[in-house]
Order: sequence, then structure tokens, then C-alpha cells
Amino acid sequence: MTQYAYFEGAIRPIAEAKISIMNQTFNYGTGCFGGIRGYWNEDQKQLYVFRLRDHYRRFLNSSRLLLGNLDFTPDQLAQITVDLLAQEGWQENVYIRPLYYKADELIGVRLHNLRDAVAIFSLPMGRYLAAEEGLKVCTSSWRRVDDTAIPPRGKLIGSYVNSALIKSEAVLNGFDEAIVLNQDGHIAEASAANLVMIRHGKFVTPPATANSLEGITLNSLMHLARHELGLEVVERQIDRTEIYFADEAFFCGTGAQIAAIASVDHRQIGSGVMGPITARLRDLFFRVVRGQEADYMHWLTPVHQPIPA
Ligand code: PMP
Repeated sequence: MTQYAYFEGAIRPIAEAKISIMNQTFNYGTGCFGGIRGYWNEDQKQLYVFRLRDHYRRFLNSSRLLLGNLDFTPDQLAQITVDLLAQEGWQENVYIRPLYYKADELIGVRLHNLRDAVAIFSLPMGRYLAAEEGLKVCTSSWRRVDDTAIPPRGKLIGSYVNSALIKSEAVLNGFDEAIVLNQDGHIAEASAANLVMIRHGKFVTPPATANSLEGITLNSLMHLARHELGLEVVERQIDRTEIYFADEAFFCGTGAQIAAIASVDHRQIGSGVMGPITARLRDLFFRVVRGQEADYMHWLTPVHQPIPA
């Protein structure tokens, strides 16, 4: 159980990390957040946090989008996170949630002249999507928020109403997840994960200009696909129906990890089970995040001091 949070400038008991119902961000959704995973390596008794500084770079960019002016560097936020995780003493896989919010208690929809605040908490987390080996997916009747309305390039709290609409419609209609189209009618992503298809042996994914998040898992997989699997990686527009013809398709994200898509709109994708390229990438990804691939240790931040040999 979570015991601590970083709140109002210090690590405190989680029970003390409370905000008022008059809080400006609670009323208007004017904050942003991050989602980061830490993976427990039992052999090394080590908790490795995946691409911690890159997550905080995106987090600070999202806060700037909201006219925030945080006095933190990615390194400082990374250090606070490591201290928080060490204090919790987790010996299992965890999820870390940093939040940026406006700390004022007032009525007034705006972004400027408000006090900036950061809070961070962590909790144990296994799978986010139960059926990672083969999801039943639909195309959402909702469209993705647009860069001209609520920019999906930032992880903005308010824009997750869009994600929640997409997710609940899919689940209540009997699917595991949904693919959401952008205002132009092309594939953007899932409710809270990026989309990749394997077609004619290529790794194909929509660019961030399709109104998807600049995913850190996606960025990592693009690198691994290119450099470890020798695949051609293509960022391009994908039509709704092109995914029906994919050899393989999967969602990727910090929560979703790598989750294979078994069907879309009742059409089977490939052989209907996780494809060979998806499986290879997924195995490699799990080795990387657990600290079992020497070439990728620079993506990991260890929480505990290594035990001297
Ligand atoms: N898209 C959306 C809308 C998300 O919420 C997430 C999860 N952060 C992703 C994509 C995947 O991004 P990442 O790999 O950086 O977690």
C-alpha cells in the first residue's frame, strides 16, 4: 500500500497529501501528469525506473503548455522520485504518477497568474490491460481531441475526459480497447496508448501530428525495432480500414506495455494471436526494462545502491 507522496515540497505521509474542493485544477482540469513504470529485478534486488528523465522532460513541456513555470529540472524531479521510491521500499513492479496542478483555491477559468504545484505518488502495478496477449478492439465513435482544441501532445488532465469516453464506450460494448480516429478520420491511437502495425515487414505508426501522444514506449520500440530487429520504421498516416489488413498490430504505452491486437471491428488481425514480430519486440522490451540488456542500461534509473560485488 502506498505510504508516502511528494506534496507541497516534501515527502510526507500519503494521508497528508490532500487538496481542497476549491482547487482550480480540480474544478477545470488545468493540470498535467506523467505515468512512469519501475520494474523489479528479483535477482539483482533492484528497482529500475524506465526513462525517468525523458518522462520528466515531457512532463515539464506539458506544464509549459499550461503556462506553468516550474522551478525544477528533469534531474531534480528524477531525484525526488528515486527518494520517494526508496522510502516506500517497493520490491515489485510499480507505477509512478507525477502531477502538475494549479494550487490556487478560486473560481476563474484561466492558466495565467496561478501558483504552480507538483505532487508525486507511486503504487504497485501489474497489467493495465488484462488481455495483453490479444485484445478485442473496436473503432471508437468518438474522435481524438485536436491540437487546435486540447493539444494531445501534452498529457493534460482535462483531455483525459476524451480518453475516458473512448475507453468506457469500448468496454461497455464488449471490447477491451478502442482505436480512436482524429478529426481527419485517420488513426490516432488508443484511449491511453500508441498504435503500431506490422505490414509488409515494416513497423508502421502514425506520427504525433495525427494527434497522438509523443509516447516514450513507442519511441523506445522504434529504436529497438530499427537497431535490434533490423526493421524499417515508418511514421505515416493510417486509414481506419488499413489496420484490418495488418499482419500484426499492437498498442504500446507505459500502462499498456506491449499489448497485441487480436481483432479490430470483428475482423481478425493476422492469425488472431500475438504475431512473431510483436512477440520478439515484447520479449526484448521486458528484458530491457528489467535491466537484462547491457546496451540499454542508460534507459534505466536504479532506485537502490547496487550491492558491491
Ligand atoms: N497515448 C496516450 C493518450 C497516453 O495516455 C499514453 C500513456 N502515457 C500513451 C499514448 C503512451 O505513452 P507512453 O509510452 O509515454 O506512456
